[in-house]
Amino acid sequence: MLTSEPLFKLQNVRKIYPMGEERIVALDDVSLEFHKGKIYCLLGTSGSGKSTLLNMIAGLEKPTKGSILFKGKPLEKLNETQLALYRQRYVGFVFQSYNLMPTLTALENVTLPLTFRRVPKKIRNRKAQEMLDAVGLSNRGKHKPSELSGGQQQRVSIARAFVNNPEVVFADEPTGNLDTRTTLEMMDLITGIARKYNQTLVIVTHDLEIADYADQIIRIKDGGVDGIEDKVALKTTTVETAEEESIAVKTDETEFR
Ligand code: ADP
Ligand code: MG
Repeated sequence: MLTSEPLFKLQNVRKIYPMGEERIVALDDVSLEFHKGKIYCLLGTSGSGKSTLLNMIAGLEKPTKGSILFKGKPLEKLNETQLALYRQRYVGFVFQSYNLMPTLTALENVTLPLTFRRVPKKIRNRKAQEMLDAVGLSNRGKHKPSELSGGQQQRVSIARAFVNNPEVVFADEPTGNLDTRTTLEMMDLITGIARKYNQTLVIVTHDLEIADYADQIIRIKDGGVDGIEDKVALKTTTVETAEEESIAVKTDETEFR
């Protein structure tokens, strides 16, 4: 059971940015695994390479060297169209700056990932409303981002990240612009949804308090992995899923009697 194939496997990943005459080594020889349903934190100081690492796993940038396997398939071999499909199908994003479309309402912003996947409008709106309910913004659907507080805007972007039921959600300094209380509310929300649906979460931060939410803390320093700390054995929804499954089995048995 524990030997399941990782969702992501990074092998000797290197990223170099050419800067005029110079070459900036943003990441050097990073090898890591990310497993389904676990919450990870990439912890490190500014400039250590966290966002570069996140963006490559998310299919936004390609490694200069090495391989990033998603369910055993190398992401670096995909072309731009295939990468776009990968992001639409499997990935959700939460950004520090929310990245909401200013001219769209909260509800419309949340429906966007479904629009890209050509989900019919009625279903789109229903799912988006369900997500707005889940993040505590039931009656804010018609508001534009400028009519919402920072915390509320981040809630909208969390709803948008999860509306597709993605396998993995990437969050880059998701609470960087929020006060302490809102930060903890936001972390409870993101990790709560991820655990409920057994989704993988990769959070970038420099904040130890945020790292405390993770099952595994991966310390990034000078473009490399500086240490990995596992928290107490998986406290994920594995148990819940098992219960749900056994209930389902019982129901089936009853029907067959
Ligand atoms: P972090 O997210 O940990 O703050 P980054 O991954 O953004 O760090 O950056 C790692 C290093 O790579 C830094 O030295 C940064 O200046 C450099 N870097 C990041 N993106 C680019 C880019 N597009 N072009 C050139 N250098 C970059
Ligand atoms: Mg960064």
